[in-house]
Amino acid sequence: MTYRYIICGSGLAGSVAARVLAEKGERVLLLEKLDHVGGSVYDCEDQAGVLIHKYGPHIFHTNNKRVYDFLSRFTGWRDYQHRVLARIGDRYLPVPFNITALKMVYGQETADKYLRLLKESYGTDTVSVMSLRSSGIPELRELGNYVYDNIFLYYTVKQWGKSPSEVDPGTTARVPVRLSEDDRYFTDLYQGMPENGYTEVINRLIKHDNITVETSCDALERLKLSDGKIFFDGEETDADIIYTGEADRLFRYRYGALPYRTLDFRFETLEQDSFQPCATVNYTVSEDFTRITEFKKLTGQKINGVTTIMKEYPKEYSASEGEIPYYPVACKESAALYERYLAECAAYPRLHLLGRLAEYRYYNMDAVVARALEMCEDVR
Ligand code: UDP
Repeated sequence: MTYRYIICGSGLAGSVAARVLAEKGERVLLLEKLDHVGGSVYDCEDQAGVLIHKYGPHIFHTNNKRVYDFLSRFTGWRDYQHRVLARIGDRYLPVPFNITALKMVYGQETADKYLRLLKESYGTDTVSVMSLRSSGIPELRELGNYVYDNIFLYYTVKQWGKSPSEVDPGTTARVPVRLSEDDRYFTDLYQGMPENGYTEVINRLIKHDNITVETSCDALERLKLSDGKIFFDGEETDADIIYTGEADRLFRYRYGALPYRTLDFRFETLEQDSFQPCATVNYTVSEDFTRITEFKKLTGQKINGVTTIMKEYPKEYSASEGEIPYYPVACKESAALYERYLAECAAYPRLHLLGRLAEYRYYNMDAVVARALEMCEDVR
């Protein structure tokens, strides 16, 4: 069997790409290293029958109508607006830090004064914690420092092994300070959870006569790049390769390993209806884990007397057996190293890098889908 495209990785990126190409009439071979499809959006029922996100909580949100419409061909949506609370001592503050949080911390009168100053200084709905900290107005600096110390500092140290001042500003800016009472984590136009889970979306995406799927198959054991030529199963191929794994691994770590962060997930199933007030609670000033997700509250699954929670323990990725890289680490050094791998790709015009790992970018799910759609329309 000959394939026009070989796609390495069946996560959201690879599966969307496979679908688009298959619908264009191309034959696609989709290879997956794990024993299941879906990459990190994979979800499944645990032993208690609770639908869990095995590789961390995924909440779909986008302002991109094209992405939303495309995915809506493969799923209905459960209306869900994600809300997050930070557990600080025995109270819970909304994250992003908003006007409700401001009042909880400072009381109505001071909060009103701060809000006035915020509105005078910023003509926007949101402001980053880092810019608040460098405000010329002492009260706003003091507010910035409060939010920094109580919401960002320890969480970021756990997540990235560095303080918020040391990580890429774009990372902490994902979670702004909000100058309104809106307590949703995301404000995008389209938000929701796939009504039967993400694995079903993936299965529907890849169910097409032109797509052949092989799981438990490490593409890099079959794919070799050499002197501008691509070999598959020992023979030179003129298939286009869409690669969604780590760029450094593709080139056998020739220039050294790119830094990634990984996570240890610890699941606990409890014999109770409910564990916490919302789907995700962030531990911003205590504990070794960053957050606890209670899946029933994310997925809306109705199941009594039992609930499954998951704690996330971030750590440096070491590429050891079974470890999975989840987050690229944005910094000058990693960008320079990534550029070297990218330059290697130039010798292989039929090799295309796609997705969070291969492009070494902190993409959200919708951005990954948008990239896959763009790439597959452009590819020859
Ligand atoms: N962050 C934080 N405290 C929080 C939430 C987020 O310090 O309560 C910082 C942290 O550095 C994190 C970044 O903001 O890595 C982005 O958060 P987001 O929730 O977008 O991370 P993700 O869900 O992608 O892991």
